[in-house]
Amino acid sequence: MIETWEKVLDPNFINAELIGDVGAERVVTIKDIDFKEAFDQKSNSKSMKQSLFFEECKPMILNKTNTKTLMKLFGADGSRPRDCIGKKVILYVANVKVAGKATTGIRIKEYTEIKCDDCGNIITALASKSVSELVEISKRNTGRVLCLECMKKAKEKMNGDKE
Ligand SMILES: [Zn+2]
Repeated sequence: MIETWEKVLDPNFINAELIGDVGAERVVTIKDIDFKEAFDQKSNSKSMKQSLFFEECKPMILNKTNTKTLMKLFGADGSRPRDCIGKKVILYVANVKVAGKATTGIRIKEYTEIKCDDCGNIITALASKSVSELVEISKRNTGRVLCLECMKKAKEKMNGDKE
């Protein structure tokens, strides 16, 4: 008998299922980027896969999309993979396509500790917008640094005041 659902899914890697439904997030700290043996159900064989290791949970296999995100976040000219170590990122569950099939997968996005002026929550990136882009938008719209929720409220209030 397999004792935990975690082990049923995959004993060695984190899965979208372990993070949650689409949109669920988890802040993690990058510990290492290295090869790790992974079992491929399709070919029924093991192979070494590029993997991203974390302080807080099991590693994930590093696909092309997530590698590109890491390079965008930390890959300035002359940087190396080791420059990611110690950095925090947000893992989130997204709808993805694998070999043409719709499924859920883990994606990476930027993590910063910029806080909302109103509610004090940390502003998190969207899939399509980085934190700095969101801060720009907030400053332009409200003159302050606000999370999306508070930005919405502030805009409604401004519109309400006008009427
Ligand atoms: Zn807020």
